[in-house]
Amino acid sequence: MRLAVLKERRAGETRVAATPETVKKFLALGVTAVAVETGAGMASGIPDAAYREAGAEIAPDAAAALAGANIVLKVRAPLAAGEGELDELSLIPKGALLIGTLEPFAASDAPGGRAAAYAAAGIDAASMELLPRITRAQSMDVLSSQANLAGYRAVLEGATAYDKGFPMLMTAAGTIPAANVFVMGAGVAGLQAIATARRLGGRVSATDVRAAAKEEIRSLGASFVGVDDAEMASAQTAGGYAKEMSEDYKRRQAEVIAAAIAKADVVVCTALVQGRKAPTLVNDAMVASMKPGSVIVDIAADAGGNCTATVPGEAITTANGVKVLGWRNWPGRIPAAASSLYARNLLTFLTTFWDKEARAPKLPPEDEIVRGVTLTRGGAVVHPQLAPAAA
Ligand code: NAD
Repeated sequence: MRLAVLKERRAGETRVAATPETVKKFLALGVTAVAVETGAGMASGIPDAAYREAGAEIAPDAAAALAGANIVLKVRAPLAAGEGELDELSLIPKGALLIGTLEPFAASDAPGGRAAAYAAAGIDAASMELLPRITRAQSMDVLSSQANLAGYRAVLEGATAYDKGFPMLMTAAGTIPAANVFVMGAGVAGLQAIATARRLGGRVSATDVRAAAKEEIRSLGASFVGVDDAEMASAQTAGGYAKEMSEDYKRRQAEVIAAAIAKADVVVCTALVQGRKAPTLVNDAMVASMKPGSVIVDIAADAGGNCTATVPGEAITTANGVKVLGWRNWPGRIPAAASSLYARNLLTFLTTFWDKEARAPKLPPEDEIVRGVTLTRGGAVVHPQLAPAAA
């Protein structure tokens, strides 16, 4: 059983899917060899030598790393023909198990989409961001591990861009008031943003549409701002995600949050609705109501952003002097920690579904976790959201 780890080639990707720690553990598990493409860990501060010390072979290029691979670990979907400098997909051996955040619903050059391309290539693909949010899956939950770091990083970057301070500073020269921080969306990223902003000394309030989030916001010492009504009581799907709210709810929510935004020095946007464009929560009028020098950090930028002023991939300053940080890939802005947690998530997944005698992965199709992440198997697209007939 050979395992390959590639250098990530997609624009702005700084993470890597395995670390020296997980390489050692894969070898202890019974993987015969781990091939790491040279330079794979550099953007996360992991030199080839550290992988070599952990027992990995360093491959001079992607083709060499993938030669004879049975398992391929990636952060992002491998590049297909026409998607970049190298057609990585064509180098993955038939029958290999590919694990990563493969974004099967994203636009792709591959005919029929990414999953169809994996099926055609005979690759069994597992897309880890589709993992069900159940207790048993928590330690393999890449969305949670990465969102947690994104929330932390967003507040640090917001604090740096904000040209006053977060805590109330009482000095001989006078007092600087604490920053008002408003967090929009209190899922994994938002709760970490609240905790981080509180640790820095900010005065924090937050909004969400799920009733459970209201208590979580308060338990972290922040105040809740929002519309608590019957729609909020039913805003959570069985999977724990928020539903798309009605136009009426959105209008009433906008009225309530407008006042919080006008007072805010730093707004951290984290609101997402699974599988859809991020909800627009901060409109142009709200941005115009903010003070010059205030900051909006939009970590929902990858999904289009929560703020109308957000330019995904860029930091801009509006005409009224509000800085809007719309970087993509926020976990990638804290790459060493993000790689470390992501790599452990993949290790836990493979360890959970590992046949010790065969020294190979064993993914029972009926298992809830396996069913959730498996896109393709034996040359066919099997994911229920992609191949309803096969579900
Ligand atoms: P997410 O990234 O999908 O969304 C972020 C937050 O935005 C959510 O809290 C959501 O309610 C909020 N949101 C959506 N629309 C909004 C709007 N119009 N206004 C304000 N806020 C809005 O969420 P997430 O962080 O992935 O968490 C989703 C759920 O999964 C939560 O219930 C969380 O507790 C749960 N969870 C469970 C596990 C587990 O048991 N394995 C692990 C992680 C998360």
